[in-house]
Amino acid sequence: MGKIKKVLVANRGEIALRIFKSLKELSIETVAVFSDADRGALHVRYADQAVYIGPSPASQSYLQIDKILDAARVTGADAIHPGYGFLSEKEDFARAVREAGLTYIGPSEHSIQTMGSKLEAKRAAQAFGVPLVPGTAAPITDTQEAIRLANEIGFPILIKASAGGGGKGMRIVHQAVDFEAQLERAKSEALASFGDDAVFIEKYVTSPRHIEFQILGDQHGNIVHLFERECSIQRRHQKVIEEAPSSVLTPELRERMGSAAVNVARSCGYYNAGTVEFILDDALNFYFLEMNTRLQVEHPVTEMITGLDLVRLQVRIAEGEKLPFTQSELTFSGHAIEARIYAEDPQRQFMPDPGLLRSYEVPSGNGVRVDNGYEAGSEVPVYYDPMLAKLICYAENREQAIAKMIRALSDYTISGVSTTLAFCRFAVDHPAFRSGDFDTHFVANHFTPESLGQRSIPEEIERMAVALAYTHSQQTSTASSVTKVDQPSPWFKNRKHGRD
Ligand code: ADP
Repeated sequence: MGKIKKVLVANRGEIALRIFKSLKELSIETVAVFSDADRGALHVRYADQAVYIGPSPASQSYLQIDKILDAARVTGADAIHPGYGFLSEKEDFARAVREAGLTYIGPSEHSIQTMGSKLEAKRAAQAFGVPLVPGTAAPITDTQEAIRLANEIGFPILIKASAGGGGKGMRIVHQAVDFEAQLERAKSEALASFGDDAVFIEKYVTSPRHIEFQILGDQHGNIVHLFERECSIQRRHQKVIEEAPSSVLTPELRERMGSAAVNVARSCGYYNAGTVEFILDDALNFYFLEMNTRLQVEHPVTEMITGLDLVRLQVRIAEGEKLPFTQSELTFSGHAIEARIYAEDPQRQFMPDPGLLRSYEVPSGNGVRVDNGYEAGSEVPVYYDPMLAKLICYAENREQAIAKMIRALSDYTISGVSTTLAFCRFAVDHPAFRSGDFDTHFVANHFTPESLGQRSIPEEIERMAVALAYTHSQQTSTASSVTKVDQPSPWFKNRKHGRD
């Protein structure tokens, strides 16, 4: 396996940009792919080359394996990085990339497949002595048997889709009488969302904290963890604020959870960067939830406290190099917090609010990192996840990191769409967050639309005007005005831009 010279990133937005930056630092050439909606996007302009891969819906562009492989072929890329989301956890994609003679900057197909099923993942982890949430080990086939097991485990319980992800396909059942109806609903939801109706049940941990460990493995059987991230501040079971280290872990618990995480990775012969997720109950018992076999959205907080570049390490691992450190050589210092800046409206149940960014100014300063995908005048497409950027603040300790985060959030200006900026400020400034006394129910327990104050009438009028203009522009834009770029366009080549 030789040195990688040119990498195509099969992704968009902030994560494509973040990966390109590390690649450039490694003197590796960069190739972007883009859909109609992303013609003018920052990630397209930042890469050395860019290839058009199809219409805006991801199913016709970013999820098209053949088009991505064609783009690699025409540009002469010798490796593909999948980023997160899209094709990043599809073993078919990893296989197709390798069969095309390219290097896949990711794990083996076997790892992706094992950890892609929550049930298979649990089976693999259990064989390595990793604690699991009490629950069923196989998909539910017999409803009466499932009710018996649910009673044995004790309500409340959670019905989960084995193929689930992104917080989708989970149902809490508080009492036995509701079980059957919820089971049917969970199954049809799972089938509709993931094409697989396998569901299982798990004890619903009532006051859980989400703690995950960053894993790194090489192709020579070495696996280490890079400590934890806490991601308990969630809405719709999806993370919105993450931090490292967690304020509840003792060194002893960190060591136990870290070695359990390494065992999970070992159970599927893992190499590349990955994340092992646990929930921690209020008695500090931890249970394995799932493993994500890719770079995670919140990886920057780990980079900040360890000083490592995870993308650089992913590249070296894919090239066949050994990990440059052992577990005992790894340390962390300081405290990092990440706030996810989404185009969504916290005052309307965090509904996505895509549209035109009329103004957009990112904060800066010592210890402030913004992994960003947008600029003023960008359109936030309706087709993809509405995350605009991640704001990461690093300081000597948690209190200072919170102070820096509040300052940086206040310096961030965005108009044209609703965002999570004010919500994030509310959350990190909340006494429960400050004191470390919170769980995954933080939003349900502490946040109401009134928490951010009433919106002023001019603000409300502006929001509605922007929404109307946006709807109008969607109706009048025609797909035929777009020309297809099969070859990398010279216009994109070597074009520099100001912000990123
Ligand atoms: P997904 O793959 O859809 O993200 P996860 O299994 O990773 O699903 O769970 C996502 C979130 O849902 C967790 O961070 C936690 O907040 C909540 N959750 C999952 N399982 C449980 C459980 N057994 N008890 C309580 N909360 C849970």
